Amino acid sequence: MGYVIDPPAPATLPVKDSDDLFPVHRIYCVGRNYAAHTIEMGHDPDKEPPFFFQKNPDNLLVGKDFPYPSASSDVHFEFELAVALKSGGTDISIDDALAHVYGYAVALDMTRRDLQGEAKKAGRPWEVGKAFEHSAPCSAIVPASEIGHPASGALTLDVDGERRQEGDLNQMIWKIPEMISYLSGLFELVPGDLILTGTPSGVGPVTKGNRLHGEVEGVGTLDVGVV
Ligand code: MN
Repeated sequence: MGYVIDPPAPATLPVKDSDDLFPVHRIYCVGRNYAAHTIEMGHDPDKEPPFFFQKNPDNLLVGKDFPYPSASSDVHFEFELAVALKSGGTDISIDDALAHVYGYAVALDMTRRDLQGEAKKAGRPWEVGKAFEHSAPCSAIVPASEIGHPASGALTLDVDGERRQEGDLNQMIWKIPEMISYLSGLFELVPGDLILTGTPSGVGPVTKGNRLHGEVEGVGTLDVGVV
């Protein structure tokens, strides 16, 4: 038996200093996981806990510039740590959660903020604002066997050499083990799942010609042009 159309190529991420690829299953993203960003978006971090949405695996962008997307005039950067799972399950305990992590990467959750804002106001889903082509620029994955499991470390994003976002991984409201545990109560996590862990404050718009440089201490860097 064959396919009636050509099957899509699997979504993958490179593994740093290796010819191997990490196959990506789903991309879960957490919203409002840093208090200062929650406040800048007009919400109260004490009253509204973080929550999840998804991007599509084929929204990943690796080693290429970010093409300014259609239908928006307010596209924002959100710089985030990404967690790559090597195993999964349901109802994973917080204590067991990190044993499921293959490694870490640094990523951008590019957002059509105008379309996201309209969706929020209308009580509609966020896909048009979040899950569009090339909306997830991502670095190579660094295995946890090399760097451990970062719980703190500076996270910075520069636009054209100017510092725009600055935070620390230790400012996450939900820590990585808590996110994995919580998600596994809602979905069956599987090897290849990627979790974007939220962004600190300072998010803002990009324009064509911008150069974005993001860095998470102890994990890696990401350089992306906007074209
Ligand atoms: Mn985000």
